[in-house]
Amino acid sequence: MERPLSGDHELVLGGYGQVAKALRDGIHPDGKYKRPLRDVRLGHVVTKISRPAGAAAAGGAKRGAVCKVYVKNQKKPIEAHVVLCTLPLGVLQHGDVAFEPKLPPFKQSAIDNLGMGTENRVAMLFDPADVFWPEDAHFLRPVRGRYTFANLHALGLTGVLCAWVRAKHIEEVEAMTDVEAFEDVMSTLRSMFRERVVQPREYKVTRWSQDPFSRGSYSYVPVGAFKVRIPYTGPHTNAFAW
Ligand SMILES: Cc1cc2nc3c(=O)[nH]c(=O)nc-3n(C[C@H](O)[C@H](O)[C@H](O)COP(=O)(O)OP(=O)(O)OC[C@H]3O[C@@H](n4cnc5c(N)ncnc54)[C@H](O)[C@@H]3O)c2cc1C
Repeated sequence: MERPLSGDHELVLGGYGQVAKALRDGIHPDGKYKRPLRDVRLGHVVTKISRPAGAAAAGGAKRGAVCKVYVKNQKKPIEAHVVLCTLPLGVLQHGDVAFEPKLPPFKQSAIDNLGMGTENRVAMLFDPADVFWPEDAHFLRPVRGRYTFANLHALGLTGVLCAWVRAKHIEEVEAMTDVEAFEDVMSTLRSMFRERVVQPREYKVTRWSQDPFSRGSYSYVPVGAFKVRIPYTGPHTNAFAW
């Protein structure tokens, strides 16, 4: 049975990347200048995390020992006393980042036994004067077809209509080319709004399972997964909501 989460639909206009940038630049949301964080490095692709001997054991590593974070195209690793790993579950499962020494078996089996699912979107930007769908409805749900439509226009992204690929069609649509997926969405829209449908200015098709920095969209606890504690951040750590 589906249990919907309470609350309104909200959208972070401009995306969450603004949070990292604001921390780096020290800009407080109220617009006043605050002290920037000392060292925020964006665009650094981590390839390996090496922990000092004993770090995973109960007593911890020796005082003063450092972790080393290796970054792509950078010879010298970044050294730190503490590394907090917030890599997505899909990236951990795919083994894109090596751990030295290897993660302990209880942690690796937790990573292996959780599930990473995919959601995809075909986002379209229309000329604001061309909006042909009901402007205030948050969702348009055709009975048939591969898509539900989220009306981001109503949430502040003027002219944006976003097709959400329905769960059982994810793989099918991921296998389409961008043009095929877009044409498929347009044909669903034409079945709903007939000749009122116009061409968007531009569109974007996502393929989250193929994104090397995500490798999926949503983590989940599959039936039969081991019941273990996972000391990592992310939605897969919230057994109640996810
Ligand atoms: C289409 C879609 C719709 C969603 N809708 C919702 C929703 O409505 N509500 C909701 O609660 N959740 C939603 N989610 C899920 C939500 O986005 C994720 O659960 C959330 O972003 C997870 O946060 P996180 O910090 O754990 O990981 P992420 O936000 O994935 O952050 C991980 C970061 O690690 C970086 N990274 C990856 N590999 C490396 C590397 N090798 N080196 C350095 N950095 C690396 C990535 O670039 C990324 O910045 C949605 C996801 C998708 C894809």
